[in-house]
Amino acid sequence: MADENVKDGEDYRLDRNAELRFEVDSRNEVQMELVEGMAEVFGTELAKKQICAFLPGSKVAVYTYHGCVVKLRGKTEVAYISKETPMTMYLNTHAAMEQMRQKADIEETRGPRVLVVGPTDVGKSTLCRLLVNYAVRSGRSPMLVDLDVGQGQISVPGTLAAVVMERVADVEEGFVKTAPLVFHFGHKSPADNMTLFNTLMSRMAEVINIRSEQSQRVNSSGVVINTGGWVRGSGYDVLKHAAGSFEVDVILVLDQERLYNQLKGDLPEFVKIVLLPKSGGVVERSQHARAEARDMKIREYFYGVKGNFFPHTFEVKFSEVKLYKIGAPSLPESCLPLGMKASDSKTKVIPVLPTMTLLHHVLSVSASDSGDQNIVETNVLGFIIVTGIDMDKAVMTVLSPSPRPLPKSILLVMDIQFMDIK
Ligand code: ADP
Repeated sequence: MADENVKDGEDYRLDRNAELRFEVDSRNEVQMELVEGMAEVFGTELAKKQICAFLPGSKVAVYTYHGCVVKLRGKTEVAYISKETPMTMYLNTHAAMEQMRQKADIEETRGPRVLVVGPTDVGKSTLCRLLVNYAVRSGRSPMLVDLDVGQGQISVPGTLAAVVMERVADVEEGFVKTAPLVFHFGHKSPADNMTLFNTLMSRMAEVINIRSEQSQRVNSSGVVINTGGWVRGSGYDVLKHAAGSFEVDVILVLDQERLYNQLKGDLPEFVKIVLLPKSGGVVERSQHARAEARDMKIREYFYGVKGNFFPHTFEVKFSEVKLYKIGAPSLPESCLPLGMKASDSKTKVIPVLPTMTLLHHVLSVSASDSGDQNIVETNVLGFIIVTGIDMDKAVMTVLSPSPRPLPKSILLVMDIQFMDIK
């Protein structure tokens, strides 16, 4: 190993309630080992002597309630210890949620439904991961819902997804998502089709209610809902719609007093609105970094976080599948048939003819069997990428997580593209 830092690594001694923050270099991995004491990464406890490897570009915080020594091996962009963290406040938030769950257990009612909101890069996803991890460690099975279509934690970008969590997140790979419920949205911002986004949120809420009714354990564990960073103008309306659809009890507002006050003024009093500070460790990302993170999510879906999945490539005849997209460009009301609203066209199922323009697009494989309007509110089974098109042979080549054949024949085209190059 040529690198200086790699040799023996460097020890960091943390006092109680301190946090070691580090950013992994963009080309190398960093290994971390808990040498002494107790510590956790975003709510997941570390085992002593266990070595965790973090991928290039990862931004990590190791927090300790009691004090510890952590060793880092490999090249970091930056690594420092901070004593200023909002972790105690986050832990108190968890404690309050836990009380609500205990009450729900006794009364056989619903546990807390918490919406996490705030601008981009304030640590919303991280807070959701923390709250879900703490809930699981308290013996709960909370539901995590991700409405962040740009940078979701559960499925690929362009989707809304939910999953019941039974296990804490893996330190290196995040949550293990068993049988998530995923809906196709197709774009990377709710702004691209607000009507569809609101429709899908309502549908997701409906399914979650049904799921909760099936098990008191899941019901009393509650729901943690992550959102995107669009908080102004129509983005704010989306948040209010989310609060209404999921009938949330608590809204955690990260870092923005303006948004906190606005929500306080606009939502009914029984919704508890809490302002929480963001952690100084959260790193702001450029537009470019965000696009890269989106690409990485899609790559992870096919190849695994550690490159341990092996996707398949095969040809699909145009005649074997039916392609659709959701939403037509809106026409002025005066051009529409009588009785039709402009918003109707936004959730309309439109057949798509296979052409070269499909190249590199992400396609969702719908669970639906018939190409009717129900497709919109039907969940999807998985995703494929169009990696090649031969118009003469009328076939497309696809990258798929599972071998041929496709499980279903209805495919929904996303705006989002992915270039499958290593
Ligand atoms: P948001 O969901 O608001 O966009 P994220 O939760 O995704 O923000 O956080 C942005 C980045 O900051 C992530 O890469 C995350 O790992 C990192 N991060 C979050 N909290 C900390 C912290 N305390 N120290 C270091 N990095 C952090």
